[in-house]
This record gives sequence, C-alpha cells and structure tokens, in this order.
Amino acid sequence: MVYILTILTCLLGCGILVGIKILFAFELTSFSLFFIVPVGAMFSSAAICSGYPFGIKKNNIKPSKGQVITVLILAALMFFVLQYGYYMVTYLDEDYHINYRFQGDHISEFVFIDSGKEINFLRFLVHSINTQTITFSYRSLSESVEANKVVNWVFFVLDFIGFLAGGYIIYYYLVSSAIYCDNCNKYMKKKKMIRLTGNIQEKLNILKESIENKDISRIKELIQSNVTEKKPEEMYVDTILNYCEDCNDGYLIFEFFVETRKGKFVQDGKRTIKVRIDNEIVKNLVQ
Ligand SMILES: [Zn+2]
Repeated sequence: MVYILTILTCLLGCGILVGIKILFAFELTSFSLFFIVPVGAMFSSAAICSGYPFGIKKNNIKPSKGQVITVLILAALMFFVLQYGYYMVTYLDEDYHINYRFQGDHISEFVFIDSGKEINFLRFLVHSINTQTITFSYRSLSESVEANKVVNWVFFVLDFIGFLAGGYIIYYYLVSSAIYCDNCNKYMKKKKMIRLTGNIQEKLNILKESIENKDISRIKELIQSNVTEKKPEEMYVDTILNYCEDCNDGYLIFEFFVETRKGKFVQDGKRTIKVRIDNEIVKNLVQ
C-alpha cells in the first residue's frame, strides 16, 4: 500500500512537471525566489514524494530514521528521473531549433559538433547546465545573465538541495509532526482546542495547573471562555489536543506564534510545550 501510493504520486508528479515542460517549455522545478531559494524544486519534490509519508501515516507504520533516509533517497532519485523526463521530450526540428513538442527528431539522434559524440542523457544534462542562460526576475524587472558555468552549477546544486528539502519537509509535516501511540501502534488524532491571547502566561499556568489536578470542569471552562477573543497582539498560543482514539492517551501541545516586524505571525518552534494529559480529560475534551 505504501509502495503503491509512493509510485502513484511519483508518476503523477513527474508526469505533470514534464507536461508543463511540453506545454510551456518551462521547468517549474528551477523556479526560485529571491534568486536562491529553490521553491519550485521544494514544492515539486514535496508533491512527488508525498505518497510515501502519506502511506506511512494511513497505515500507522511507526516512524523511523530509515524512513527519513528513504524519503531523501527517493527525492534525490526523482530529481534525476525528472531531468531524464525533460531530456526525453527534447527534440530538434528541421531548423535545428530545440522544442519540447516532439517536432523533428529526438535529441539523442544528433551528435555534438565539436566532439562528434552522441547526445546521451548525461552529456545532455552536463551540456545544458554549462550553457544555460539564467533569467532573473525581480518584481516586473527581468534580467538575463550570460551563461556562466559556475553560476549554473551552483543553481543546479541548489535545485537538488531543494528537492531533498522538499522530501524532508513533506515527511516531517505528515509523519514527524504527529505523535505515535506505542500502546496501540497508531498515530494520534489532532484536535484544535483554543487560541490563547492577551495574558498568555497566566492562562497557560492555570491550564497546566488544572491539568495536573485533573480539574476537568475548570479546563472546559477555560477553553470555552476564550473562544471569542479579539485580534491577537504580538503573540498568541494555539492549543492542540493530540489523542489516541483507542486508549485515550493524549497530549496538549502549545504552539507559540510571534508577530514579525511585517505584522505576520510565525511559529516559534523552540517554545512549543508538550503536556501529557490524563485519559479522563482526553475523553471529556474529545466529546
Ligand atoms: Zn493508544
């Protein structure tokens, strides 16, 4: 089941990306932001690799380091599979113009003028990196930079790293961020409880104290009192209940969000707090 899902998203993802190349002569995988952040590669890889962590989660397979290594290998492999896909749709028409619409003959039918060697996949890849002209765009301005080998190889490596990152991110998002119940061999469910704003520390202390004392009515009261809070200032805390449906084991996770200078809220992962809660409280909160 995991393997079927993995193969399915790999085929689908690569198919779509090669399809974009055919239709628009554009490689989504080399799209980057602020010149160096390979977002195109990261998103593509996350989508392509998603079947693997999704299958792990659905089948309640215990997370392991081996899975992290597997998803990284998968991402690396898919990076080159995709390059091969791009190569497979590269054709030369009668005027020797490159096209990706199957006009003329496939590039492998030709040889390099200087060396006389046939254009196989590896030579094609190296040659395209060496000679590529990179177009930078910033807002409405667009700047083309003459082919520069070193710069091109740096971008190629960045795209590759972007692929590894994308694979890791989707694994982390789907598997690592979930809590696994060792008693029942399954992933815990998540339920968003409350967003604490205003006097956060005080509310956190009360909540923690009530959890320790197993004061269920107090906890419920707190959770219900805080629903209609005004827009948060500077920071807020999201409270997420992670619980096992079978044995009612559970944790409350407090995630801290801090306002940036631009007025956006970003999570401060270092401050995340995980509190184990009693089975009785879980039962009450899940209802
Ligand atoms: Zn359980």
